[in-house]
Amino acid sequence: MPSLQRTTRLAPSPTGALHLGNARTFLINWALARQNNWQIVLRIEDLDSPRVKPWAKQQAVDDLQWLQMDWDTNAGLQLDDLTPYKQAMSMLREKHLIYPCRCTRKEVVEAQSAPHIDDHELCYPGTCRPVDFSTICEDQPDAAWRVVTQDQPISYTDAFAGEQSHNVSQQVGNFVIATKAGLPAYQLAVVVDDARQGVTDIVRGDDLLRSASRQLWLYQCLELTPLPTYWHLPLVLGPDGRRLAKRHGDTRLSYYREMGTSAEKIIGLIATWSGVHSTRVPMSAMEFKERFDITKLSHDPVTFTDEDDQWLTNN
Ligand code: GLU
Repeated sequence: MPSLQRTTRLAPSPTGALHLGNARTFLINWALARQNNWQIVLRIEDLDSPRVKPWAKQQAVDDLQWLQMDWDTNAGLQLDDLTPYKQAMSMLREKHLIYPCRCTRKEVVEAQSAPHIDDHELCYPGTCRPVDFSTICEDQPDAAWRVVTQDQPISYTDAFAGEQSHNVSQQVGNFVIATKAGLPAYQLAVVVDDARQGVTDIVRGDDLLRSASRQLWLYQCLELTPLPTYWHLPLVLGPDGRRLAKRHGDTRLSYYREMGTSAEKIIGLIATWSGVHSTRVPMSAMEFKERFDITKLSHDPVTFTDEDDQWLTNN
């Protein structure tokens, strides 16, 4: 029997410019794929309107190409065809697994029984969950849709981060799979797309670690197989220990490109962050791919320092 063709994806969200942290995750993803003969799908995740910036779609492609990455297929834009997500919604509706919800964020905040560790992630108390799902009609203007979850842990082995076990009901409760704007939410879109695009290996930042169990729950609800293998990688932090962001100055790839920094310097910096090289030396993506060894990648987050920035901008 021929072995399953393994496939990964590069999935930038055009909600802003790609920065050095994004570049490290993408470069490692690309190198793993090219080392192991996985196919690479490029998928621009443009569903998150109104946060999507029209210019960011092309810029993400330009940034990845500038960093000498390539891919085998281009999945196109998610907004161009909503049919696959609608089909998934129909299936979930028929299985009585989803229901409409018109709660505002404020209402969900006020309904919290205990202070939540991360207030970006509220735990939905089930306010709109019906007793009888059979009477729910399809047409629900201005409603989000939530999926029923089970109060038990979902466990899986992350190929990089190791054993994971998360109770989705206790973390976020019945989570949103379609927004009030009538669009599929990230959790649903990513599962539908990964499954239909044959993605077997998902490599991404560990800020999405908790999302993986939600996504595995959707695989189960939608009866999708095989389940993907996840590789959640540590993030790049600023000198203050917080996730790399605007507050740390300009770390956009396009900024460095405009400053005249070479792609090889960016890759060389990422190499020092990834167990490839102990000192900063310019390097091609091909050389990075040849030297990169996932077993040597630290499990600790990386810190972007002022010296790193000086090295990049000193031409
Ligand atoms: N588009 C998402 C992001 O850029 C990645 C989603 C995923 O890898 O599942 O954060």
